[in-house]
Amino acid sequence: MNSIREQALEKALAQLATIKNTSPFYAEKYANIDVAGLRTLEDFQSLPLTTKDDLRAAYPLGLSAVAPADIVRIHSSSGTTGVPVIIPYTAKDVHDWALMFARCYEMAGITREDRIHITPGYGLWTAGIGFQLGAELLGAMAIPMGPGNTDKQLQMMMDLESTVLGATSSYALLLAETIAERGLGERIKLRKGVIGSERWGEKMRARIADELGVELHDIYGLTEIYGPGIGINCEAQTAMHCWDDYLYLEIIDPKTGAVLPDGESGELVITTLVKEGAPLIRYRTHDLTRIVPGPCPCGSPWTRIETLIGRSDDMVKVKGINIFPAHIEEALARTEGASSEYQVMIDHLNGRDLMTVFFETGSPPERRPAIEAALARAIKDKLSLSVTPKAVNLGDLPRSEKKSKRIFDNRY
Ligand code: ZN
Repeated sequence: MNSIREQALEKALAQLATIKNTSPFYAEKYANIDVAGLRTLEDFQSLPLTTKDDLRAAYPLGLSAVAPADIVRIHSSSGTTGVPVIIPYTAKDVHDWALMFARCYEMAGITREDRIHITPGYGLWTAGIGFQLGAELLGAMAIPMGPGNTDKQLQMMMDLESTVLGATSSYALLLAETIAERGLGERIKLRKGVIGSERWGEKMRARIADELGVELHDIYGLTEIYGPGIGINCEAQTAMHCWDDYLYLEIIDPKTGAVLPDGESGELVITTLVKEGAPLIRYRTHDLTRIVPGPCPCGSPWTRIETLIGRSDDMVKVKGINIFPAHIEEALARTEGASSEYQVMIDHLNGRDLMTVFFETGSPPERRPAIEAALARAIKDKLSLSVTPKAVNLGDLPRSEKKSKRIFDNRY
């Protein structure tokens, strides 16, 4: 463990001395634990994890660790089912988030000369406003477009000479494809893309980078822990640096909860170190990644996590094999003629599981059987699993402005 993470652990342990006094949520959760007496790494790792269900149970403002008047804003996580999670922020929390986001822009080589075209949504969601706060603190020009209306997006992008695009990967791809189709490339001045981290394949990344002519950076974050902006990949493009002066990071085995050594893949668990409104101790992100050991070629000392390989709840099991979206993306990357866009359908027919992989291709119909066979082979090599490949035309699969779902399990 490097010294930055040791310092983060010290801060995480020190915070435990008062957490029960400030947070009714943790006073209840850790009622039977002498958290103020915990001193070591092993002590810390013995603390029960905090889950999204815990946060839901605290709806609406049960997570708050400050007086109601000190809450200046709330955000809500986009739960797909059931009760949402509400995260209260103090003025300091909002400022800290902006500081972290501004740092992300700086790490990506973005300056106050830049014009940042912000397409993620505004509102309860943390995305758009995070991009904006960071841009304004940096001193860059924020262009708060929000999502949708591609015609207007492109017009503003040209008229205002936007230099940085903030977007989800699927919306960045939609914009890149539209710009290519309309032959607008010459009139677009973008030089960088800051893409909200969802797990996305190398092929999709390469297409967006090529068609927009930009350098891409993955920005990481989640509403429960401020929002996007808690980490970003540097110019060395090796992994995402996260701000350990605000966060203590751990990787656990998603099945057993055991802490894994640096370098091993598992679920990211985050403890906030200075958050006032809703401090979180050992929060399960469900994002699968690993801590990249050793120094980064860029020289930055901040801890690195690898680009997300999936979510622990995205994992599906077919014929006893664990499948992540990243597996399908790797197979697509190895298949000549296949594009990056795909959708997987898993069905249960005639007593057995059937996995169909739809993928886009620009190749003519007579070439498609060979491409389908190559993809099926690549997946078989990777997963020892037989699938049914189905080629479709470019643009046939849905694009979304929010995080896109790729694997549909229709068995239950
Ligand atoms: Zn670096």
